[in-house]
Amino acid sequence: MGYVFGPVPSRRLGRSLGVDPVPLKTCNWSCVYCQLGRTRPLTNERKDYAPPGDVVAEVRTALEEHAGGVDWITFAGSGEPTLHASLGRMIRDVKGLTAIPVAVLTNGALLDRPGVRRDLLAADAVLPTLDAGSEEVYRRVNRPRGGLTFAGLVEGLVAFRREYPGRLWIEVMLVQGLNDSKESLAEIAAVLRRVGPDAVHVNTPVRPPAERWVAPPDVETVRLAVSMLGRTARDLAPAEPAFDLSPSADGTDAVLELLARHPMDLGELGGVLPRWSVAQLGEALERLRAAGRVGTVTRGGRRFWTSPLARYADTDRASRSHRGSRSAHAPQKVDPRTSTAATEPAKRIKQG
Ligand code: SF4
Repeated sequence: MGYVFGPVPSRRLGRSLGVDPVPLKTCNWSCVYCQLGRTRPLTNERKDYAPPGDVVAEVRTALEEHAGGVDWITFAGSGEPTLHASLGRMIRDVKGLTAIPVAVLTNGALLDRPGVRRDLLAADAVLPTLDAGSEEVYRRVNRPRGGLTFAGLVEGLVAFRREYPGRLWIEVMLVQGLNDSKESLAEIAAVLRRVGPDAVHVNTPVRPPAERWVAPPDVETVRLAVSMLGRTARDLAPAEPAFDLSPSADGTDAVLELLARHPMDLGELGGVLPRWSVAQLGEALERLRAAGRVGTVTRGGRRFWTSPLARYADTDRASRSHRGSRSAHAPQKVDPRTSTAATEPAKRIKQG
């Protein structure tokens, strides 16, 4: 598997089978809170980053493997999916395979392009981002590629809402001191009133952010945001449902595919691999790190396991020094179920 990961537990989409049509990290924004690290280079180029037929074939295989265990199929992952030039074709082809609904997570930066809006029409839900209500805050939080403007972002959202009959759920990611003041929230609320989404999801950074200084606002501020951002706004509670990836045909590869798009700490990994002991899991991860197959980054006292290719402001040094030349997707058999020694302190589990 190279393009499909999970299912991952999603607060909005239940058991979400991820489809990742662009390589790490192909994006036209470099959000300060991005869990995949900094974007380099920023790109606005739409092209076939992956063969569409191969992507759809992997979805078909994954659906057979996880029959009955998928609530949504979600285009997301290592960057901005609308940069894939054949996104529309892939969505339509996936919908031809199954009745499971299809969602697209997008930053929405290209929605001012009619072709991108057309591509998204076949999806059952589109989840764009709106973290700013002004050009200045847009640049500070999302750090868009040159040529992308806040006015373009808003016009794209308004045009898409007019044309799109499906569910439009907008996410607002709040970062302490950047976009959580009353003034900033009022500006975001004004844009949301223009767009008229079906739901607004207020989120805070719970994954390792690209920049170390990024912090979530306090509970009171989140409550204030929910009250100010319209009647459809709700807080995305941090609790995520546990589920079991252990029975995957190749558990190690499944975990690597997951970590490449969704960094997790050891406690969270234990939640999705309940049949593996923490000791087994910890040892296997250390071995994978030594082989350059995973990296780590520490945020807020939590050590997250990541893609070794992700560029954080200050990736844990040990993971860089152990980095090998293998691709993050190259297969390597390291089975935690056969490991015995504990290398990860148990206290880390409690921090997860
Ligand atoms: S959070 Fe999404 S939009 Fe922002 S830099 Fe990361 S991949 Fe791009």
